[in-house]
Amino acid sequence: MFTMICPVCEKSVNDMQGLALHFRSGSIHGDGKHASWISAEQIEHGISDSDLSDVLIRIFRPEESLIRWARMEFIAKFYAHPHPFMEAMQKPTVPVLLGYVIEHRFFLKNWIRTLSMVIHSTTSDDAFEYEVENVATEYIGLNGKPSHLELLLRMGEALGMSRKRIMEYSPLPETSQAIEVWYGISNRYSWIDTMGAMHVLELVADRTLVDDGSPIHYFNPEILKGSDYPEAVKNFLMEGYEADVGHAGEALKIVQAATMDDLTTRSIMLRSMDAFYVYLNARMRRARMLEASWGE
Ligand SMILES: [Zn+2]
Repeated sequence: MFTMICPVCEKSVNDMQGLALHFRSGSIHGDGKHASWISAEQIEHGISDSDLSDVLIRIFRPEESLIRWARMEFIAKFYAHPHPFMEAMQKPTVPVLLGYVIEHRFFLKNWIRTLSMVIHSTTSDDAFEYEVENVATEYIGLNGKPSHLELLLRMGEALGMSRKRIMEYSPLPETSQAIEVWYGISNRYSWIDTMGAMHVLELVADRTLVDDGSPIHYFNPEILKGSDYPEAVKNFLMEGYEADVGHAGEALKIVQAATMDDLTTRSIMLRSMDAFYVYLNARMRRARMLEASWGE
């Protein structure tokens, strides 16, 4: 007997059967959230089965290791039918990159807040060291190298938007909504689940997803070689391209070894990936807003 939580509303259930029952009662009561989540998952995975228990087992795939599952789930959600942001990043326009800069500043700040909870409560020296270094790399800068935040801001400046202007924006509602999910996870769940929720997102820039069937990479790698984009754009993208492979892998290894409740960890990772999807929509909407006001 194990317990797990619903990936949509976080209700605790006893097992996969209990989760199927919970989804069924949600559908009976006309709750659109659960029904639309399941049908989106079925489309992402190409599952035509109609038995809820079977569908849930094919989503959670308990027989796969946590890391393998996370990688395949990330590909299904973001790359099998590429998210519009990933499509746009194959040949990004200035508004797309500036949309990225404006919204990502809020993501990074929340990244630090959320993962500081791991530093605060972990009992693992490996997790502690990992997250301290992570905070430094993302926000402060390490070994004489500028932080990811600094590289992000420099990308914005190179594309013609002043730092002052970037800082004047408030996050779009989709960004705030996603941040609320992540911050809430760090408030209510263990350091292990929090680490899983956040570091699964670093798979986004993992080059090796292509080896596992992802049809495209996060961005077209030719951008790094050519001269179509300013150096600051290449420097920012390069950082993720080179660093995140080993980086995300290492964090998820810590999570896989430490979790006592694998299915709850998977549910929380699903919630986090769903929030990330919404957040990527914000980058696209910001890009469209910039495009519409261009030349005004
Ligand atoms: Zn639920």
